[in-house]
Amino acid sequence: MRLDGKPYPWYSDLVGRFAFPARGDLAGFMLHIDAVQPDPFAPPSRVRVRLTPRAAGLPEHLWSSPARRIGLGAWLARRFALTARARAQYRGGGRVGASGGPSGAILMALPGQQVLPQTAVFVGEDGGIEARFTVALPDEARRVAGRRAEALLLEDVPAIVDAALRGANADLDAAWQAAATNEDAEALRAAVVARGLVAFIADGSILPRRSGADDRPLQEGAVPFEAPEALSVSLDAPHAGPLRGMAVPAGVTLIVGGAFHGKSTLLRTIALGVYNHRPGDGRERCVTVPDAVSVRAEDGRAVAGVDIAAFIGALPGGGDTHRFTTPNASGATSQAAAIVEAIEMGATALLVDEDTAATNFMIRDRRMQALVPDDLEPVTPFVDRVRELHRELGVSCVLVAGGSGDYLDVADTVIAMRHWIPTDATAEAEEVARALPTGRANEAAGPLAAPSPRHPLADSMDARRGRHPRSARVRGRAAIELGSQTIDIATLSQIVSTPQARAIAEALAVIATGEHEKRPTVRELVDDVAARVAARGLDELDERLTGELAGFRRHELAAALNRLRSLAIDDGSARAERREERETDDEAVEPVDAET
Ligand code: ADP
Ligand code: MG
Repeated sequence: MRLDGKPYPWYSDLVGRFAFPARGDLAGFMLHIDAVQPDPFAPPSRVRVRLTPRAAGLPEHLWSSPARRIGLGAWLARRFALTARARAQYRGGGRVGASGGPSGAILMALPGQQVLPQTAVFVGEDGGIEARFTVALPDEARRVAGRRAEALLLEDVPAIVDAALRGANADLDAAWQAAATNEDAEALRAAVVARGLVAFIADGSILPRRSGADDRPLQEGAVPFEAPEALSVSLDAPHAGPLRGMAVPAGVTLIVGGAFHGKSTLLRTIALGVYNHRPGDGRERCVTVPDAVSVRAEDGRAVAGVDIAAFIGALPGGGDTHRFTTPNASGATSQAAAIVEAIEMGATALLVDEDTAATNFMIRDRRMQALVPDDLEPVTPFVDRVRELHRELGVSCVLVAGGSGDYLDVADTVIAMRHWIPTDATAEAEEVARALPTGRANEAAGPLAAPSPRHPLADSMDARRGRHPRSARVRGRAAIELGSQTIDIATLSQIVSTPQARAIAEALAVIATGEHEKRPTVRELVDDVAARVAARGLDELDERLTGELAGFRRHELAAALNRLRSLAIDDGSARAERREERETDDEAVEPVDAET
């Protein structure tokens, strides 16, 4: 009331901690106003509420393990976000204020279908809660709108807290489902790893989505998943009990079938099985080993010093592909780079869909082998390396290959999708392969070796932007802006949400601004940040205590770093150059810059 009608920046007087008293049976809680926006158009003000275990009143079985806390946290965040939205509508908030800015909205990011560790709602080890959200403080003609701010902070905030965060008002069965389902998913994934499988898809799962732009389950006409007998296993989930489902085994697995019969939908389920899903998603009992990585062709991307020689040999122009560097990769070279980069980070399974693969990378049939001689074709097609990947490096592969029968020769398992139902076609495929030989020659020259480590040049990673020493922003989940550069991450299909992209952006900024004593490798840089987050939580990435971060894998952080256009790898020439400068004025080795 004291600030009412004052210039908008006076709102900054609100920064501080405020105790909300107990009301009725509900114990009080603390409100922290951490940062106040300087004007109505600036990013909204950052606010937290903290509830002691008693104030939260959530029964202990909901939060007694890390997996339960993460499941419960995502469930509470969803409740909070939806309650706040409904409240804003009732208030007419969230609309454009008198001076054109968004005004009077209480906002928390709505978690998606994937259940990730996130910073919007934390459930502590003691059952206490911290919720973080933003408040767009209202203005009247660019002045403090005291009465509306009072209603927002003193009526709406406690009403939303009471409705969304208090055990006394919660549907405890639904809360338990969220906690237990998440714990089950962890147990299923551990079982998949222990049995040496790549993935598990429980019977009854709903794989298709509502649309390409809506990740919720398809409602009408969805055919529930049913494992073929030959590939079925039973895994124990602590709460759901024994579950029958399809095992995707290690080795080379082919998914075949006619167009529109559900191949890509199955592969996408496997790709997203590295994450847990919320109850009712349809994929909450579909789990994949933690290090499965989707790889695809991505022409136009930058590649820095990646050894793709196992897949792409001598390029026109004499380019050496042991340290392949280009600002503009082709389809085949980009896919080769993605595979090598994934293996460099310890991928144990690669997921490839023909829909997004480069045909000339995947296959070269007998006729092309006859027409274009080997010495004019730099590519060793993937079909000639995929078995070795598993045999030599222990990397499995799940491939959608509806168009190329040449893969029948190299598959350990063949899953045929028929009207959205998987069948085991392994024996049939063997027979076809025997009856109809491809007649093509294996083109692999030399053995497949594990990629050698890459040492980025420190000054090739820069988060500075104008006067800001560290700038990391996102454009939804499609792009990261690090310093003055934009990194295209739209093609990274295992980045699933804006908060996840934001956490990756902050992690990149940590890497770019870090001081390193020795010359770390790409993997060491990524692992170092990942370890810090694992030990101390996502707040390690951003001291502002935002509620807008979500957990990510090492693989996506590495993938984003690998797509940073300025990234340069120390190929020894920098050191050699320094050495040579002292002796002669010899030219340093030129980086390869070529297209295939
Ligand atoms: P493919 O890759 O074999 O061409 P997709 O996986 O893209 O096929 O699926 C084709 C269509 O079928 C998509 O619209 C998808 O949502 C739908 N679909 C996939 N699986 C099912 C299912 N189990 N029940 C109903 N529709 C499905
Ligand atoms: Mg497809």
